[in-house]
Formats: sequence, C-alpha cells, structure tokens
Amino acid sequence: MSTLTAAPEAISRYELVVGMEVHAQALTQSKMFCRCATDYQGAPPNTRTCPTCLALPGALPVINQAAVEATIRTGLALNCRINEMAVFARKNYTYPDLPKGYQISQYELPLCEHGYLDIDLEDGTTRRVRIRRVHLEEDTGRSVHEGDYSLIDLNRAGVPLMEIVTEADIHSPEEAYAYLTRLRATLRALGVSSGDMEKGALRCEPNISVRTLAQKARGEYGVKVEVKNLNSFRAVRSSIAYELERQVKVLEAGGVVEQVNMGWDEARQRTVLQRGKEDAHDYRYFPDPDLPPLRISREEVARLAATLPELPAAKRNRYEQAWGVRRVEANVLTSEAAVAHYFEEAVAAYGEGDGKPQRLATWMTGELFRLLYADGDGQDLRQIAAIKIRPADFAALIKLVDAKVINPNTGKKVLEIMYATGDDPHTIVAREGLGMVSDASVIDEAIGAIFAANAAELARYRAGEEKLFGFFMGQVMRATKGKADPAAAKARLEELIKG
Ligand code: ZN
Ligand code: MN
Repeated sequence: MSTLTAAPEAISRYELVVGMEVHAQALTQSKMFCRCATDYQGAPPNTRTCPTCLALPGALPVINQAAVEATIRTGLALNCRINEMAVFARKNYTYPDLPKGYQISQYELPLCEHGYLDIDLEDGTTRRVRIRRVHLEEDTGRSVHEGDYSLIDLNRAGVPLMEIVTEADIHSPEEAYAYLTRLRATLRALGVSSGDMEKGALRCEPNISVRTLAQKARGEYGVKVEVKNLNSFRAVRSSIAYELERQVKVLEAGGVVEQVNMGWDEARQRTVLQRGKEDAHDYRYFPDPDLPPLRISREEVARLAATLPELPAAKRNRYEQAWGVRRVEANVLTSEAAVAHYFEEAVAAYGEGDGKPQRLATWMTGELFRLLYADGDGQDLRQIAAIKIRPADFAALIKLVDAKVINPNTGKKVLEIMYATGDDPHTIVAREGLGMVSDASVIDEAIGAIFAANAAELARYRAGEEKLFGFFMGQVMRATKGKADPAAAKARLEELIKG
C-alpha cells in the first residue's frame, strides 16, 4: 500500500482538476476502413487482415457507415452538436503496431463537439461534465512480447474506435468514477460499444493536475500528468486519489510537478513513471487525401436521433418520479440495461403502487445482488441476464413475505434456494415446510413449553429483570424453527409472560 501522506489540510488548499479521455471500440461487424471482421478476440494472429489494414502499397480505405452512425448516436446521447462536415486526418507517428506510420483519426473537424453528461454523486448532488469532442478513428495492432522477441498481431488494426474527451470538469476521484460508470451505461444502452475494459474495448486515460485557489482565481492550471493503460474504473479512481496526494506533496515541498505519462501499479497501489515529456510530440496532422470529407445532413441526424433508446439518466428519473424509487437504488438499477430490464419485468409482476417498486428495489439491490456478487466473476451485474430466477418468481417471493406466508429471514433462505435451483418460491416453501406460523395456538403451545423449561428465568423476569424478554423471544423463534410470525409471537409472549 502507498505510504504517501500529504496532510489533509494541505490538500484542502488545492483544487484537483481532471480531464478524461476514453477510447471505446465501436460495435460493428467490420473494421473502420476495410471489410475485415472485428471478432479478433481469441482469433489466431493476423487472420483478420487484408491489404488495407496491413498497409500494403496502393490499398485504399473505405469509410464504415455503421461506425459513423454509432459515433453520431453517441454524440447525440452526450448532448453534442453534430458537425455538418467531419474530416479524417492522418496522425503521424512511428510504432511497430502501426504499419501505415500514421493513424487515421479526426483533428480539426470531429463528428461531435460541445456536449455534456450529468452525473450523480453519492451525496445526492448532480454534476455536469462537459464533453469537448467525440471523434472516430482506428485502433492499432498489438505487440506481443515473448522472451527476446516482439511479435506483431494486426487483427486489431483498423477496428473502429470512438474517442470521447471531456473538459477538465472532474474534481474528485469519486466524480471520475461516477462519470465513467454513467458513460459506460450510456454506451451500452445505445448498443454502440461493449464497454468491456478487461477485453480492451474501453480504455480510460485521466489527465490529472492540481492548482492552488490563487491559480484558479487567475484562470491558471497546474502541470498535467497522464495515467495510461488503466484496466478498471477502480484503478482510475485510485490513481487519481494517489496523484492528488503525490502532486500536493511535491508542491508543498517546493518542488515542481513534471509533465509525464504514468502507469498504475495495482499491487503497490501507486503510479509509476512510464515516459518523459510528451509535449515534444508533433503528430503533423493533415487531412487524409484518400478520404473525402464526411457530410452529415440534418435529416440523417434527425433519423439517428429517433433511434436513441431511453438513456440511463432518463430511466433513473422515471424510476424516481413515477415509481418513488430512491435515487441511490435507481442509479444502481439503471447502471446496466440488463438490470433495468429485470427490474421492470419484476415491477410488472409485483405492482407499481404503494411503494412496491422501492420494496422490490431494496430486495434486488440487497439480497439478489449479494448472491450475484458471490457468484461467477463477481462484480459484473450483467450476469443477471443469465440467472435462474425469473423476474416474476422474484416478485412472487416478495408477495409471500408481504402476505406473511413466510417471514423476511425465511424469504432470504428461499431466495438462495431459488438462485441455486430456479424453482418457484411456492414450491420451495411447500417442499421445505417453511410457511410462517402465525397460528396463536401453535405459538401459545411453544411459549408454554419454554416457560416450563426455563422456570428460573421466568421468575427473574417477573421479579423485574426485563432484559430477559429477548431471551424468551429467541427461544420462541428457535422452537418454531424461525417460522413464527415475529410480530404475532412478540404480542403473545408479552401477554403470557405477565403471568
Ligand atoms: Zn482489413
Ligand atoms: Mn485516440
């Protein structure tokens, strides 16, 4: 773990300033400028290639319309202006996995500009993160290092890549996390990207700086450090928190922050230096002479706007406003389309009135997610699409609790069995004999037996030792194997214990 310790009061004299650059592969059948398939994951090296993406002389690029549409839809969902003309430009640099010697990207005229995404923080406040631009480019190939050799696999070269860049509007690690979570939910809702970080389909690069309040007042910024190759949102959050402390410590000691690229060492929980100064880079951008400027008609934009689904933020608002679901649960439930779908199916079976959706939301984000997290590879809530419990059966379980057929604790047990077997809750309750006992005669009988077996404790209670009530209540629940209706059992015990 990090041993950094910048005093909190020192940190409070600075403002953290973060801009986020996200590269998201667009979900298309074919590559950006050729007909090669994009299903390169797990494919033998260099089997998804052709003269164009191998950069053979004379091969010409052709623009993939599906990738352009995905980018425009992303821009619209992020409240961007869609430019009437976009230009593909060559970004020149040399790297083994870039056979052309340049990447086709967009520079002065990107497809989308000047948007925003509103994010919700855990304290209940909302913040707006401005989107500077969303442009379309091509992915590079990959270098695979084996012993003394480096091997090049060009299967990924030319896969369409959307680059989404924010203004420097992020001011805490939590805001960065909330931004990425909402952005990924939006991309997945649109169906434009898988958003799978572990497969490299989504890559985040925060640029991080701090400035004093005096600098802020003068409109000045500190020196930016870029963190590369982060492979989880948690790593993004941790690296920003680490850099905030590190940079403040450097400045407080009278030093200067250097403009460098860093990587994140997950094991040591710290950033590590990757390369030196980047500002010397001159990519010598110029319009690609092989590709005509893209003209985007307003009719085309209107047509694509009409294809946008209900986005996570709108869904969240609907759960809150129409169904009375608390914001914290509404945010979790809309963080993945599969989760929202499951929830809505369950609401349809359970009912919309009387705070029922909130009750369902509590059970779902509490008990059901606990089982989901303990299963498979853990944190991915999209697993909900594959669980054995049907939404209607989930609703039926909560109805059994409502109707006091089973008590809430038994309900949790039944849910576990449902999760393992997929059986419906009525069958499980009948088969395992779990029905709740609220029959007064059964409870009375149990209480009578307990009093007989614990005469000394009963006498002490009656002599004024009132804390023994809990002991008797526990005995009643145990005698009924946890199936007694707790309210009914408590009422009868209070009555009978007086003697
Ligand atoms: Zn190709
Ligand atoms: Mn890029």
